[in-house]
Amino acid sequence: MAKHYTFNPHTLSYEILGIPFKVRIYRIVFGVLLACASSTIAIYVFSYFFETPRAALMQQRNEDLQIKYDFLLQRLRQTNDELNELMQRDNKVYRSIFEADPIPLPVRESGMGGIKRYEQLLADAQTEQVAKAMIFMDKITKKVYIQSKSFDEIAEYVREKEEMIFCIPSIQPVNLSDPKVHFSGGYGWRSDPFYHVQKFHHGIDFGGPEKTPIYATGNGKVEKAEFNWGGYGNMVLINHGFGYQTRYAHLSEIKVRQDEKITRGQLIGLMGNTGRSKGTHLHYEVLFKNRDVNPINFFNTDVSESEYHKIIQALKEDANKPAMEY
Ligand SMILES: [Zn+2]
Repeated sequence: MAKHYTFNPHTLSYEILGIPFKVRIYRIVFGVLLACASSTIAIYVFSYFFETPRAALMQQRNEDLQIKYDFLLQRLRQTNDELNELMQRDNKVYRSIFEADPIPLPVRESGMGGIKRYEQLLADAQTEQVAKAMIFMDKITKKVYIQSKSFDEIAEYVREKEEMIFCIPSIQPVNLSDPKVHFSGGYGWRSDPFYHVQKFHHGIDFGGPEKTPIYATGNGKVEKAEFNWGGYGNMVLINHGFGYQTRYAHLSEIKVRQDEKITRGQLIGLMGNTGRSKGTHLHYEVLFKNRDVNPINFFNTDVSESEYHKIIQALKEDANKPAMEY
């Protein structure tokens, strides 16, 4: 900067002119401001063209997170596929075995209270991906819940089926390996021993000596243990549940009481000739939903194939003979 001089008439010499204080201050302030502005512009220009280390680090972290997120999403999709496979198997195999209705797809796939809970997350571009993953996860959680409920239900069916297997009549009421015990009358139309007319025989008959043991053919409860005046004589009626009942008639002695719980193979009475009967025998009936059915179809746990054919043959030969009771 050029220096200013002024002439002093008293000393007759030129003297250097001093800069006022105010002007100096202005100059300093202006200088500082100029330096700030120029350095800001320089930083801005620099960061525009070159990344700062911090920004580079953030960028790297962002990319890492994106990779992890994609991996998480992939795992969720895999889990969902596996779950869908399990649901298919549940509906088509497990539930159909136990005659249970399949669970409809809309019920299995319904969400958990919609996407309202994620509105805020979805509105923000940075958290949108997270919200979507959470919605996906919720759907999977719901499916797992429904699936586990379905398995509970199936476990209950299994328990019931197991009980049913023990309850449904499936053995013979007498010990046929005893040579003195034999079939003496089949189910169906046959000649009535009293009136000699064709009548429907609602059960099958087993002949044998007086007091031959009679056994319950399935688990259940004694519904009746009494003398029946209608013709059955001393009779036991067992209710097996699941729609099944069995009747044991013409007993000489009843060995159970009404309402007593019975297990398969339990002694319930002794063979006799009470009621409308001609000769010592057991009249055995199986009823399903209050209608009699052929008991021969319920001997499936203690009869071999050859034994079964022998019974059928004996019943055929026997069909023309008069029954020992109606
Ligand atoms: Zn009979």
